[in-house]
Amino acid sequence: MPPRRYHTTGGLVRAKRATRAYLVLTHKAFRYRVYPTPAQEARLIAWEASLRWLWNLANEHRLLGLAMSKKRYPSAFDQINGLKDLRSEAPWLADVPRDVCAQLLVKLDNSWQRCFKRLCRAPHWKRKGRDFLSLTETHPKKWRLDASVIRFPKLGNLRAVIHRPLEGTRKTCTLKRDGNQWFTHIVCEIDRPDPASRHEPVVAIDRGVVNMTADSDGNIVQSPRFYTHAMKRLARAQRTVSRRKKGSKNREKAKLRVALLHRKVRRQREHVVHCLSSAYAKSHGTVVVEKLNTAGMVRASSGLACGILDSGWGLLVWCLTYKLAWSGGRLVEVPAQYSSQTCSACGVVDSKSRRSRSEFCCVACGHREHADVNAAKVLKHRANRSVLPVEGSPPVGSRRSRKAKVKLRGTRLSTLENHVLYGRG
Ligand SMILES: [Zn+2]
Repeated sequence: MPPRRYHTTGGLVRAKRATRAYLVLTHKAFRYRVYPTPAQEARLIAWEASLRWLWNLANEHRLLGLAMSKKRYPSAFDQINGLKDLRSEAPWLADVPRDVCAQLLVKLDNSWQRCFKRLCRAPHWKRKGRDFLSLTETHPKKWRLDASVIRFPKLGNLRAVIHRPLEGTRKTCTLKRDGNQWFTHIVCEIDRPDPASRHEPVVAIDRGVVNMTADSDGNIVQSPRFYTHAMKRLARAQRTVSRRKKGSKNREKAKLRVALLHRKVRRQREHVVHCLSSAYAKSHGTVVVEKLNTAGMVRASSGLACGILDSGWGLLVWCLTYKLAWSGGRLVEVPAQYSSQTCSACGVVDSKSRRSRSEFCCVACGHREHADVNAAKVLKHRANRSVLPVEGSPPVGSRRSRKAKVKLRGTRLSTLENHVLYGRG
C-alpha cells in the first residue's frame, strides 16, 4: 500500500510535487437538490435564525476579547465548550443539532484566522434576509443517505434527487438555501491514484470583455453577457421592491423575484464557464492564461467592471485550476503586459499594430490576425519561452515604456517558474 498524502481541501487544489506511485486523498463535494416539506422548511428557517443569533453573539464575544488590553479572545474550542450553558438558557438554540452549532463556531474561527493572515476582512454581522447560513452535520454517523432520502438529525427524512452516485467515504452533510430552493452538499473522502502528467498540446487563453475567450488555436467564444441582458428585468424588479411597504409580505415576494433573477444570471454564467473549462481540461495538458488582478481591475475601471464580472474571468481560472489538477494537467499564469500590442510572429511591440478592437496588423512584419487570437499566441510564446517578452523595441507612445521594459525583462525566466501554479516538473 503506497503511503497516503493529503492533497487538497475542497475543490481548489494546491498540490506538492508528486510521483505516480502515490495515492492522493481528496475531498470531493456532491451537490443534490432536496425538497423539504413545509414543516421541515419552517424548522430549517427557524434554525437559520438561531444560528444567525449564535454567530453574531460569538463574533461580538471575540471582538470584545480583541478590544481588551491583553487581546485575549476566545478560541473555537472555548466557544464550543460554552455551548452547553448557552443552549440550556436559549431553548430556540437547543432545538438546533449540537454539531451544527459547533461547526458554525469553527467556521467563525476560520474566518478570523483568515482575517489575521490578511486574506480577507473581519467577519461581519449576519443580517436577516441577506445572509444565509448553511447547516453542517459533521459526524458521518448522524446523517444517512438512502436511495432518494436524506436523514438529517432532528429533521427526519428529506426527499432528495440523487442524480449521480456518491464516491468514497462519506464525511459531512450540509443543508443550504439558494433563493427558494434547498440543496445538500455531501463531502466525501476519495483515495485516487495520482494522475500521470499529460503531454497533450499547450493552449493559451486570452480573456476579454467582448470575446469571453480567444485561444491560440484560433477559437473565439463571444461573451454571452447574461447580466447585461437581464438588466432591464432586474431594474423593473428592483423598482417594484422599492415601491412596496417595508416589512410587508409583498415586499418579501418582490425581493425574492430579484434574488431569483440574480440566481438565474449566476447559473447561466456558471454553466458556460464549466462547459468551457471542462473542454479545455479534457483536450489539453497545459493551459496558459494571463496573470490578471481581476479584483483590482474591477475597482479601477467602472466602465469595464460590469463586463469583466459578467464574463466570469475569475471563475474560469478557478475551474481550470482544479479540473486540470484532477486530470493531471497544469495551469500556467504568465505576465499580461502588452500582450495585445505584441506581434506573435516577430515579437515587436507597437500600439499602432492594434488597428481596431479586433484587428491586429504588425507595423514591422505585416502579420495580420484577430487581435485576441494574436494576444493568446503571445501568451503561449511567453509560456514556451521561445519568442518571449519582447526585447528591443519598447512600446511606442507609452509614457510608462521604460518602467514596462524593466518589468518585462524581469519576467523572462526566473519568475516564470514561479508563475506555474500547479506543476509536476
Ligand atoms: Zn510582426
